[in-house]
Amino acid sequence: MPIELVGCTLEEIESALAPLGEPRYRALQIARWIYQRRVAHFNEMTDLSQQLRERLEEAATLMRLRMAARSDAPNDLTTKFLLDLPDGLAIETVLMGFDDGRRSVCVSTQVGCGMGCTFCATGMAGLVRNLTAGEIVDQVLLVRSETDERITHVVFMGMGEPLANYDATLRAARLLNAPYGPNIGMRHMTISTVGLVPQIRRLAEERLQLTLAVSLHAPDDELRSQLVPVNRRWPLAELLAATRDYADATGRRVTFEYVLMHGVNDRDDQARQLAVLLSGSGAHVNVIPWNPVHGLQYARPPVHAVHRFAALVRRGGVSATVRLDRGVDIQAACGQLQRIRAAGVLA
Ligand code: SF4
Repeated sequence: MPIELVGCTLEEIESALAPLGEPRYRALQIARWIYQRRVAHFNEMTDLSQQLRERLEEAATLMRLRMAARSDAPNDLTTKFLLDLPDGLAIETVLMGFDDGRRSVCVSTQVGCGMGCTFCATGMAGLVRNLTAGEIVDQVLLVRSETDERITHVVFMGMGEPLANYDATLRAARLLNAPYGPNIGMRHMTISTVGLVPQIRRLAEERLQLTLAVSLHAPDDELRSQLVPVNRRWPLAELLAATRDYADATGRRVTFEYVLMHGVNDRDDQARQLAVLLSGSGAHVNVIPWNPVHGLQYARPPVHAVHRFAALVRRGGVSATVRLDRGVDIQAACGQLQRIRAAGVLA
């Protein structure tokens, strides 16, 4: 059975080469072709001998995602990509550009999502499968090669719950950080979670400099259990204890995402309650107005209500900002990702 090299570390490529009697430095050459040049065929690895390239063709494979569609937002530097996986399934990946030069790729970690958050497009169809580390990393590599942009940041916030696909997500973060790969700093990567407490604790033990972003969306257990069903398993007290431990272990400030839905979680008393909940934790709150999703009945609050909510949280002593809408026009905003070809948006 040929070994798939996209998703392998340098050490694993070295091990794969050992039976071929090749010196270790060949592995570094191959890793750079895979992760820096994104070649799709061994015969493109022009600094390897013809004989080695032929032997690699027999012993290994190079999985590459294929771009099925691309959509550029008219009003900001956001581009959404529909990407085909080798088994015929599809995922979405988003490139966000910022005026200060940052270029951030929002990657998917699963096809669909099994967490069932009631306001989210991705969760509507359930979980189909986990992505491999190679499939996660190749999203960044593909966006870079399609746009010629230097990717400075990666956020694991696309389709899926990253910590429900823990091993592949962590492996992808390490590969993206590797000097033989895109070499993106751990501090420039953010992993989002809906609140899987055991995995947050496991992540804390890795002692990496990743930013943790927790999707909170409610200041009390009753409402949060309605919006985010996983809260029934790990309620707020347990979740917040785990995030405090993550901050202590890593020295990194935790971010809380709060999607604001009109008449659901945007009242003044809920803003004050949120501030009480997070006060003293050093955390930061991103207030995100809910983005319309076809088939869901929530409403987006008026702009002034969004800013008022953030101001009340700040008045309670907790840092809070409103996250600007990006890519709403092309259904690339938070909570809007779904396999859009099925929905006919890009096809
Ligand atoms: S909000 Fe995140 S965790 Fe919840 S269903 Fe959507 S993708 Fe899954």
